[in-house]
Amino acid sequence: MEQKTIIILGGGTGGLVASHELKKKTKELARIMVIDKNDMHIYAPSFLWLMLGQRQAHKIQKPLSSLNRKGIEFINDEVVKIEPERKLVRTKNANFHYDYLIIALGAELAPEKVPGLTEAGYDLYELEGVERLREDLKNFAGGKVAIIIASLPFKCPAAPYEAAFLLDEYFQKKDIRAKTEISIFTPEALPMPAAGPENGRILRALLESRNIKFNPEVRLLTVDPNKKELLFEGNKTAQFDFLIFVPSHQGPKVIRESGLGNESGWIPVDAKTLKTKYDNVFALGDVAVIILSSGKPLSKAGVFAHYEAEVVSENIAAEVRNAVADKKYNGRAYCFLELGYGRAGFAGGNFYAEPVPVVRMKRPGRVWHLGKVLFEKYWLWKWF
Ligand SMILES: Cc1cc2nc3c(=O)[nH]c(=O)nc-3n(C[C@H](O)[C@H](O)[C@H](O)COP(=O)(O)OP(=O)(O)OC[C@H]3O[C@@H](n4cnc5c(N)ncnc54)[C@H](O)[C@@H]3O)c2cc1C
Repeated sequence: MEQKTIIILGGGTGGLVASHELKKKTKELARIMVIDKNDMHIYAPSFLWLMLGQRQAHKIQKPLSSLNRKGIEFINDEVVKIEPERKLVRTKNANFHYDYLIIALGAELAPEKVPGLTEAGYDLYELEGVERLREDLKNFAGGKVAIIIASLPFKCPAAPYEAAFLLDEYFQKKDIRAKTEISIFTPEALPMPAAGPENGRILRALLESRNIKFNPEVRLLTVDPNKKELLFEGNKTAQFDFLIFVPSHQGPKVIRESGLGNESGWIPVDAKTLKTKYDNVFALGDVAVIILSSGKPLSKAGVFAHYEAEVVSENIAAEVRNAVADKKYNGRAYCFLELGYGRAGFAGGNFYAEPVPVVRMKRPGRVWHLGKVLFEKYWLWKWF
């Protein structure tokens, strides 16, 4: 059989799973390549512990070059153009032809969309931002802490809430909680809307029980770093002493410029097969957009990228082997929610259920926190 070339763009969550699954299932029948502009894979869920000094940056990242010893070719380069009609990917330094293409380029962070934000605060979603945050947090002696979600959609809908719970514990232990106000500002009506209103209300009550102020449906326009002031739509303002933000997200530049995506750069895909409108081109994870029967888009999270990558790999491998490619993603997913004090929540269910997702939250406990920690260890061991 003629060897096929399968190119995976992105060595993040989806790219790692897809490349390993494909290698395992196609063996010598396919040449598998991963292209990423970064030479390191960074495990983002650990940012929350990094923020508190409970992790070190070098321990939560691994070199993508280690894929080479597993027979997966890693190319450290930036993808600048995708030409599906010619089955061609252009990087800064070379051109690559493919038989199958998996786009797993994630979401691009665009903090600059809100003037003043970067100057005034700490980016919870970038390694450098979290490292700065950790250092300055050590010297914080109390005041107004604002956690702001700049716009929707954003990946890992739980992360800013987890940050708030963990900070509550951190300030308690530093004995400055009584003089510290923690407030969340978000365009959402309730936390984690994709998990349904019932879970949103549970989470809001949990925030209130910890004296974390929840400010819903606010749209941030600008930040004044000198006055330490947030300005929202409708002329509302809020003051802060310490600002932590989730930046705006958009589709990667190469997708926005190639016309493969919608106006925001997200690639529409079939919910069950992750096929795009182009032959043999799949998109998965954060870069893909799937509209649920509720009319809302599927959330962006690593767990979706992971399961979607398994489906896509299985189907491509079946085609390569001339077998039937009939695997379908069923929308099942789960997530841990750090609550501090060694406890976490756990929500899981069917995000494709109709008419609305069916997602249940388990009683918070130590076991879920342990599960989250074990998953981190497993992830950084499994693929490297
Ligand atoms: C603080 C935080 C906590 C989180 N916690 C969780 C959690 O607990 N559970 C969960 O499920 N999810 C969590 N997430 C979300 C999760 O990390 C992402 O949803 C997931 O990584 C998406 O996977 P992906 O493969 O689509 O994209 P990514 O993992 O982002 O990978 C995209 C890759 O593409 C590369 N790339 C981009 N553009 C180019 C280009 N032009 N050329 C070459 N390479 C390029 C990038 O360098 C990157 O390596 C968290 C995220 C954050 C920030």
